[in-house]
Amino acid sequence: MKLAVRLMFGILITFISLFIFIGADDKDMVKSNLLTEKTFINLKKASPKALEKENTVLSKPSSKTIYLTFDDGPSYLTNQILDILKQNNVAATFFVIGSHIDEYQDTVKRAYLDGHTVALHSDSHVYSYIYTSLDNYLADLNSIRTKVYNITQNYSRIVRLPGGASNTVSKKYKAGVITEITNWLNKHDYYYFDWNVDSLDASGRVSKEVIYNSVVNSLKEGDNIVLMHDAATKATTVEALPLIIEYAKANGYTFAKITKNTIPYHHKILN
Ligand SMILES: [Zn+2]
Repeated sequence: MKLAVRLMFGILITFISLFIFIGADDKDMVKSNLLTEKTFINLKKASPKALEKENTVLSKPSSKTIYLTFDDGPSYLTNQILDILKQNNVAATFFVIGSHIDEYQDTVKRAYLDGHTVALHSDSHVYSYIYTSLDNYLADLNSIRTKVYNITQNYSRIVRLPGGASNTVSKKYKAGVITEITNWLNKHDYYYFDWNVDSLDASGRVSKEVIYNSVVNSLKEGDNIVLMHDAATKATTVEALPLIIEYAKANGYTFAKITKNTIPYHHKILN
């Protein structure tokens, strides 16, 4: 009798373990599928107007193209940036943060209606959360994507990882997580972009001269993906912007926004 009970108990434990194991796998799959499926629904749902917007270009790529990209906004500065871009007929890309969107919904809407790319940076931008697992990253991505959709009626597939794909901070939370994330993005028709021109405006308060010099001295033939920030502390970025545009136009560069047809630029993954 005792043996039978022990046997039954053993079988029960095996079943429970199996169930948990399969359950976990299924959960991952369901999550992945959810994002993909939603995407298809989105494409169908997207109004003709929204799709038309996606194709609008203020300016076009050339053999010397500048993709201005603004991370960590929106903030009160974003409207000033939008004014400068409009005056100069320049398109740009905004990698927005979810926690800032609520306060600046009109700004996000304006950026989109002005013809810029509103792209996905992160909902929380909290490394210790998003880089602990692929699941956490995807949950975060899904919420920023939904927030942007609610404003623009357009599901963005353009992504920039907080810290870029080359960041080494993520290793502290989970070694290899950037590889997992970028593999997932590549597999699911998302397009992530790093940068090859750094305005240096990420580090504290930098003068407009440093930002200007850092950008114009790095420009070259081909695609220049410029990292800038429109977070609330980046007033000098706004000051440097018209000067950078002026220099670029005088030197034969054109401006374009990132779309899924833009040739991706990826940092080396170091995790
Ligand atoms: Zn960021």
